[in-house]
Amino acid sequence: MSESKLAIHGGTPVRNDYLPYGKQVIDEDDIQSVVKVLSSDFLTTGPAIKQFESEIAKFTGAKYAVAFSSGTAALHGACFAAGISEGDEVITSPMTFAASANCVLYQGGKPVFVDIDPLTYNIDPKLIKENITEKTKAIIPVHFTGQPAELDEILKIAREENLIVIEDAAHAIGATYKNKRIGSIGDMTMFSFHPVKHITTGEGGIITTNQEKYYEKLLQFRTHGITRDPWLLKKNHGPWYYEMQFLGFNYRITDIQASLGISQLKKLESFIEKRKQLAEIYSKELSTLQEVILPHQLSYVDSSWHLYVLKFQLTKLTTNRKDIFQALLKENIGVNVHYLPVYLHPYYESMGYEKGICPIAESCYEEFITLPLFAGMENRDVMDVVNAVKKVVNYYSIK
Ligand SMILES: *Cc1c(COP(=O)(O)O)cnc(C)c1O
Repeated sequence: MSESKLAIHGGTPVRNDYLPYGKQVIDEDDIQSVVKVLSSDFLTTGPAIKQFESEIAKFTGAKYAVAFSSGTAALHGACFAAGISEGDEVITSPMTFAASANCVLYQGGKPVFVDIDPLTYNIDPKLIKENITEKTKAIIPVHFTGQPAELDEILKIAREENLIVIEDAAHAIGATYKNKRIGSIGDMTMFSFHPVKHITTGEGGIITTNQEKYYEKLLQFRTHGITRDPWLLKKNHGPWYYEMQFLGFNYRITDIQASLGISQLKKLESFIEKRKQLAEIYSKELSTLQEVILPHQLSYVDSSWHLYVLKFQLTKLTTNRKDIFQALLKENIGVNVHYLPVYLHPYYESMGYEKGICPIAESCYEEFITLPLFAGMENRDVMDVVNAVKKVVNYYSIK
C-alpha cells in the first residue's frame, strides 16, 4: 500500500503543507482595535489597560485584575505580592514551562517539585503534604493543558498550613472547576496572552485576585515600586510628588496590547468552544488505538483545552517517542512535547536538582506528544492529524 508508506521512509505525507501546533487567530476587528489606539492619546498607561483588566476580572469572576508585559512577569509579581523571599520554599509541578518555577527563583526562593498524578498529569495533592516544611510559603499549581488541578484539596492543605496559592493558569482561561471559573478561586491566578494561548496580546499576562492587599502590591510592583496614591505616600511634597517604596520593575503592558486583548476577549468563548469540538474529534477518532492513552478528564472540571497531549505506550510500540515524533513531523504535522520536567533543564541541574525527584513526570516526558490544537483549525486539519497518528502508530505497533 503506497499511501501507508511513512513520509519519513519516502512515502507521501498525509498533508502537503505544515500544520503548526498552535497559532493565534487575528481578524480585521482585532486589527482595527489596535489601529484605533495607535492614533489615540495613550500608547501606554491609558484607558485600554484598565478596560482590559476590568473585562478579564468580570470574565473570570475575580474582583481585581492587574495586567503585565508577560505571563512570566505576572508570575513574578504574584510571588512578590505573596511575600516570597530569600530561602522560602514554593511547591510547584515539574510538568510545566520553566516560568512557573523561575518566578520563585527571581524572588530568591526555592522551587520544590512535587510529582504529578498519572491520570490528570496535574500536581498530586497527596504528595504536597509530605513536601511541606517550615520554610514553605506557597503552592503554584499548574492547570496542565487547561484541565484544572485539584483545587479543593490544594486549598484545604494551603489553609491548614497557612500557604498562599498562586495558580499558573496560562493554559486554562475559561476553564471551570466545580462550575467556578478559574481566576476566581485561588489567592492569585496568572493567565498568559502569548500567541499560542487562547487569546493573545502579542506578549502579555495578567493576575486576577479577590484580595485588595495583593491588588495594590501588584499595581505598584508593575511600575518600579512607585506610587502616587495619597493614602499610601509616606511623604508628600506636592502635586508632582511620587514615591518609590520598594524595588519593582517596569512590567507594564501597553494600551496597544491591551486593545488587542479587549478585542480577542470578545471571541474567547467561541475559541474555547472550537477547541473543545476539535479535542472531541481527536478523542473519538483516536479511541480505537490501543497504543495511545487519551487525555483523561475529571467529571467535575471543564477544560479549556489549550493542549491535546497523547501518551504513547512504548511497551506496545516497536520504537521510542523520538522516532514517532519525527515520523509525525515528516507527515507535516506540527507536533510538540510538553514538557521536559523543569528541574531537568541544565540550569536547574546546576543548582543541584537531580533526575528521580518526580518519576511519574519523568516517565510521562518520555511518552508525551502534543497534537496541533488551535481555534483556527478546520475539521479537515484535525482529520489529517488523526490519519497521520493512525498511520504512524499502525506502522510501529507491536501487534
Ligand atoms: C505560557 C506559559 C507561561 C508564561 O507565559 P508568558 O506569557 O509566555 O511569559 C507560564 N506558565 C505556563 C504553563 C505557560 O504555558
